[in-house]
Amino acid sequence: QFQATGVQTCFHGRHIEPQIYAGLNGSNWTLADYEARGGYQGLRRVLGRDGGQGLTPDQVLAMVKESGLRGRGGAGFPTGLKWSFMPRSFPGQKYLVCNSDEGEPGTCKDRDILQFNPHIVIEGMLIAAYAMGISVGYNYIHGEIFKTYERFEVALDEARAAGYLGHGILGSGFDFQLHASHGFGAYICGEETALLESLEGKKGQPRFKPPFPVSYGLYGKPTTINNTETFAAVPWIMRHGAAAYLECGKPNNGGTKIFSVSGDVELPGNYEVPLGTPFAKLLELAGGVRQGRRLKAVIPGGSSAPVLPAAAMMACTMDYDAIAKAGSMLGSGAVIVLDDSRDMVESLWRLSYFYMHESCGQCTPCREGTGWMWRVIDRIRHGQGRAGDLELLNSVADNIQGRTICALGDAAAMPVRAMIKHFRPEFEALIGKPAPEHEKTHA
Ligand code: NAD
Ligand code: SF4
Repeated sequence: QFQATGVQTCFHGRHIEPQIYAGLNGSNWTLADYEARGGYQGLRRVLGRDGGQGLTPDQVLAMVKESGLRGRGGAGFPTGLKWSFMPRSFPGQKYLVCNSDEGEPGTCKDRDILQFNPHIVIEGMLIAAYAMGISVGYNYIHGEIFKTYERFEVALDEARAAGYLGHGILGSGFDFQLHASHGFGAYICGEETALLESLEGKKGQPRFKPPFPVSYGLYGKPTTINNTETFAAVPWIMRHGAAAYLECGKPNNGGTKIFSVSGDVELPGNYEVPLGTPFAKLLELAGGVRQGRRLKAVIPGGSSAPVLPAAAMMACTMDYDAIAKAGSMLGSGAVIVLDDSRDMVESLWRLSYFYMHESCGQCTPCREGTGWMWRVIDRIRHGQGRAGDLELLNSVADNIQGRTICALGDAAAMPVRAMIKHFRPEFEALIGKPAPEHEKTHA
């Protein structure tokens, strides 16, 4: 998945203090090690098993709201607000789901959290379940990562044996059963409603939204779904307080974020930094642009995010609002760095192939449009582009975006438009001549 732009990666876990996801450097992941680092202290505080009074579900919810935590899967939706949608007095079963079906090209943070710190996710889910009055949860783990899945199962066994999962947790009246589910490796199964279908044993295809999962989720019951990294932030908030979490980021962008930096840098890997850290600092942590070359462009939030030229990126801080203002999105935090040797037509050709391949085929604009865009880019790349092809690409992208069941259609369209907008001369050079004026609006 890291080759969608034609660049390879390896991993270095580094961070700027505070380190919320401690353990990412590969230190011991077991329950004993996690407890030695203060693990499960957040849960103990919530349940009043640390000598204190404990917190009510409303108090936990208020803390998560106040912390400014936003969904780390890509959308950045406020976590406390999402939790507040869960009906309190629903008479039937409610579910909690962790979306560990990380599949965005360039993104590899959830895999490392689960591999090197699985208990932090279990603890985060326990606290979320307590806050929303949920007794059953699932962690849906990407189907192509086998060792991570096996490790999470072992961590679940450890947590059950220690009384952190099951009935009457830590002697309280709180019950929570948590199960792992191994996914099927399709990118689309990471879309939350496709994930639910897959978890139910069906073909992983997205449902229409609304209704959102909190109204009609797993088996049609109210379900809250959060990303792995989102749950993993919750124990720290319970231990250190909402204000401390908010302060280590910036307003409306609380906390730290793990960025998976890949591509043309000296030290590709996962880096935990406070939201609001300048991009230049993150690049420096990753060793700078490879072999002293010049930065050409950056895809700042996974392959779905529009590419930004070097100058725009160097002026940016790494947070949801700043990246959106610059014309892209923070997404899942996959930062793909492209140096001045990169051929943008080839990069887009690879990205477009990915979306064509991963479209579930359910709706026409995405099924037909992703293939159409790839075929046009393919002919441009092979020197057979036609006058008007760039206008045709923009027109197809316009007719996909906002007209599909799920966000994959948008994700396929946005990179095409951004690449043409910022690097048009590279495409035109391959086509041979700019499109005639009269073809620009009627392609
Ligand atoms: P979304 O904005 O539709 O929803 C975000 C979350 O908020 C969802 O859980 C949704 O159920 C909830 N929500 C939104 N409005 C709601 C409402 N009115 N009532 C109740 N709940 C509501 O985004 P999405 O389609 O879930 O995700 C898109 C993002 O996923 C993209 O921006 C992309 O960055 C990211 N993505 C990530 C990966 C990955 O591997 N991590 C892969 C592909 C895409
Ligand atoms: Fe499937 Fe694409 Fe439609 Fe999403 S937008 S439902 S991936 S065809």
